[in-house]
Amino acid sequence: MFSRFALRMLFVAAVVCGLLVPTVSIADDEKKPRDIYDYEAQKAAKGVKRIVFVADTAPHGPRGNHEFLAAAIYFARIINAQYPDAYAVVHTMAKWPKDLKHADTIIVLMNHGGSSVNPAVKEATRRGAGFMAIHYGVEVNKGEQGKHYLQWLGGYFEPFWSVNPWWTPKFKDLPKHAVTRGVKPFSVNDEWYYHMRFVDGMKGVTPILSDLPPLSTIPKQTIEKPSSHGGNPDVYREVSEGKKQVMAWAYVRPDEGRGFGFTGLHKHANLADDNFRKLLLNAVAWVSKLEVPEAGVPSRTLSRDDLETLIDDGRLAVKKRGI
Ligand SMILES: [Zn+2]
Repeated sequence: MFSRFALRMLFVAAVVCGLLVPTVSIADDEKKPRDIYDYEAQKAAKGVKRIVFVADTAPHGPRGNHEFLAAAIYFARIINAQYPDAYAVVHTMAKWPKDLKHADTIIVLMNHGGSSVNPAVKEATRRGAGFMAIHYGVEVNKGEQGKHYLQWLGGYFEPFWSVNPWWTPKFKDLPKHAVTRGVKPFSVNDEWYYHMRFVDGMKGVTPILSDLPPLSTIPKQTIEKPSSHGGNPDVYREVSEGKKQVMAWAYVRPDEGRGFGFTGLHKHANLADDNFRKLLLNAVAWVSKLEVPEAGVPSRTLSRDDLETLIDDGRLAVKKRGI
């Protein structure tokens, strides 16, 4: 067996002999980023929070809409870079991880929450794993699916109760909570679902993003003729009465397991907004019981090129890595 010193000497000798281009030192190599598609390495990792993202790759309109895989890749990379005590991996919905016994957190970005009846997710949440759902991932059917989401997440999008309009809320009053660290008031146009179905009395739920939507986000005819996603008499009445609606929430279960729901992120480009992005990164950390720094999880602003590259990275991972 080589000692570290002997390895270094071999490396130096190889460089001197021109066998290696000295672009990385051994020390740098040891620090190389954790591979977000190496599921076995994540399972084998000890003493770290193991975060599992599951992203839907089904197209939903043109490029730039529901780019869930791109977002998952981004979050996983940043968390791995910022937290030596975390290992995040990314799966696609098409290849659901059957075994989640090692998972400390499961984060779903998908079109409709099939996760709500997935046996592996049930097992993980039963033993206290964190659960986070983003955008269409927060929607499940009333009944068994909804019951599970209430237990894991504290709330969900319920057809004929919740709505999914496009609008531009102003998030002016952010509560003091780990997920809002370093997040300043912001306003972003997105398909912000609201009027979620929450647990009774909002017990354990902390509203994080709230605002009063304009009444124009609910077609008036849905008072008489409710629609699955457009409107219903209950939401119309609440908004008419000036009741603020919740677009993101943190949930602490009776067993201290954590949940986080976020209804925006239809539009991939919204990740370029510093506050929108920071809130999501903080939430990934918080739901995994990682410490959120005072100024929030750091990340640099994403350019248009960065956003496009993330989409390409996702497409390539499906094609080349077979995820
Ligand atoms: Zn959408």
